[in-house]
Amino acid sequence: MKNKKHSLTIVISCIFLGLTGCASEMNKESNISANKNESYTWNEVFSIPIKIKVQQMITGMAIGDKYSVLNPSDTNLHKVEHRYGPTPILAYWINHPKEGNFLIDAGLSKAFKKEGNYNKFMRSILSSMNVKTSQSGYKSAFEFILEKNITLNGIFFTHLHADHTSGARDFSNKVTLIFATNELDSMAIKTTGNHLEGKKSKKLNMTEGIKIPPFDYALDIFGDQSLWAVSTPGHSPDHLSYVINAEEGPVLITGDAIAYEAQLKYKINPTPFIHNYEKAVESINKLESFSKAFPSLKIFYGHDIKYSEATFK
Ligand SMILES: [Zn+2]
Repeated sequence: MKNKKHSLTIVISCIFLGLTGCASEMNKESNISANKNESYTWNEVFSIPIKIKVQQMITGMAIGDKYSVLNPSDTNLHKVEHRYGPTPILAYWINHPKEGNFLIDAGLSKAFKKEGNYNKFMRSILSSMNVKTSQSGYKSAFEFILEKNITLNGIFFTHLHADHTSGARDFSNKVTLIFATNELDSMAIKTTGNHLEGKKSKKLNMTEGIKIPPFDYALDIFGDQSLWAVSTPGHSPDHLSYVINAEEGPVLITGDAIAYEAQLKYKINPTPFIHNYEKAVESINKLESFSKAFPSLKIFYGHDIKYSEATFK
């Protein structure tokens, strides 16, 4: 019973939506990471942008109650619009001039063209919450990569909840899965089912990163300051957000540390039934201060796009 409640909590927190040593190897060339005791700022990082590209993919939609992932006693709750409207399940394509092609999160598998690939446990939780998931009218990340005719080297994850891992199943076992050291907890194992099976994984040890305020740990993934993982725990044990130092301007992928734009705009905290509420609030505060310091930052939220672009079929 206790387990069931906890499971529900995790999934709720993930979003009814989805509804709901890589580091040490990759960054050893980095000048920044090699000087852990020196202080750096994002201004310095952004002063030398890199030819790295990022593109958002909508891999499907979920439909349920958006409020279920937010703090019910928050006085700004009503400012989240379209409470029962469709919510996107997202993935990102990253193209680096030397390192090649990666995803950040995998979104929904192409299996969602039919019955999907959530396991029985996940399906029963979603059904008890009256959450429905559909890919009708959208493409999986696998289909997107296939159309581009490119090779995918790896998938970085913000966190290991099923709506972010489902699409990993479609790729060959040559694709490496990359996530933070303490992210794969028992709940992640239980809810992701076979999504991660058969693939090698690499762990990002965030404590090997450096402090770049407001983040306690920032990890220069490729060692050239193009792609950064920043520690934003709370939604899940070792949740990551990503900062991309692109020529078109800096980009922030919040993951589910912030599910909806309104959360940042009106300071709406997540449901207390989350992995670690205090840490989640702290992470939102850090992301807020980061976004205020860099108004030109392009922000991609965990489960938000322009509502006019969202359809559920
Ligand atoms: Zn999610």
